[in-house]
Amino acid sequence: MPAESPSMARPNPSASLPKPGSQSALRERNQQRVIAALMSGGPQTQAELSRQTGLSTATVSNIVKVMASTGIVSTAPTTSSGRRALSVILNETGQVAAGIDIGRRHLRVVLATPTYRVLQEAAVALPLGHSAMDGLTAASELLDTLLESGGIPRSALLGAGIGIPGPIDRRTGTVVQGAILPEWVGINIHETFSEQLQVPVLIDNDANLGALAQVTWGPHGAVDNLMFMKVASGIGSGLVLNGTLYYGNVGVTGELGHTTINEQGAICRCGNRGCLETVASTSTMIDLLGHRGRDAGEPVDTRQIIDWALTGDTATLRVIDDAGTAIGRALAHMANLINPETIVIGGR
Ligand SMILES: [Zn+2]
Repeated sequence: MPAESPSMARPNPSASLPKPGSQSALRERNQQRVIAALMSGGPQTQAELSRQTGLSTATVSNIVKVMASTGIVSTAPTTSSGRRALSVILNETGQVAAGIDIGRRHLRVVLATPTYRVLQEAAVALPLGHSAMDGLTAASELLDTLLESGGIPRSALLGAGIGIPGPIDRRTGTVVQGAILPEWVGINIHETFSEQLQVPVLIDNDANLGALAQVTWGPHGAVDNLMFMKVASGIGSGLVLNGTLYYGNVGVTGELGHTTINEQGAICRCGNRGCLETVASTSTMIDLLGHRGRDAGEPVDTRQIIDWALTGDTATLRVIDDAGTAIGRALAHMANLINPETIVIGGR
């Protein structure tokens, strides 16, 4: 059967939409701008909305009135610069979005409203060297558990944002060589996750998402040029340049963990020698101090290293000092290259 014989023709979704260029299309577009500003910036006054959207205060005031009458937003009295003002709040509709953070050894899932209120959150350990399918199944199961425990129907799930600790080729949606999850290399995670979860998914490198979080909900909302460096089992960084995430040519940016620090250094999992990760990642620090753990009869982890450092253990301080020097050197190169306003260091 032809996909769309005349009798089977699907209704044209654009038929009910206002004609582009018409007065109502303009109103619709302006309303979308106000909603987008409320979603990214949280509750704010009409004057702030006007500044954020570039719309006049009169237009914002009209749009807010219409949206309040249809229940899309509510308003509450507030003060702004000592004057009385109205705070505009996006109403919750019962819909949720999922955030999925996949690490080398962990998985974390959160459910949040479109107004960024976190409703449910849970984390589980993943076995080291887990396959992409194992990670995906675990993520999907944990997501279902959270929906169920929150009494949220699956139909209320708008989509999922997924962070993974490795570079992603944005042309294909695949994890590329050098990822901290070698078992995931070459897998089209976008396709795989979309199929499994049956909702729209957005996938990005976790350091990129860290940078985005700093300027969206973190303390650096006013910063246009920010670098976020994640120091964990691997080392990666995310760049916000001119107010937007920087993806380079194919999406593999900020891979600072694989800059050469020592040409005679240890072999890195990427195949090069003496990469920053071979000196400063938490796995390297754990390896270097492993014998101390064996002497004490317990496995070493990052928490343990911090505890030793706080007691002034000289071997631990040597390892941290070397890591800090190497990281500082890499950051200095980046600072010379891109002149960021703020550098944030995160990770374990
Ligand atoms: Zn490397």
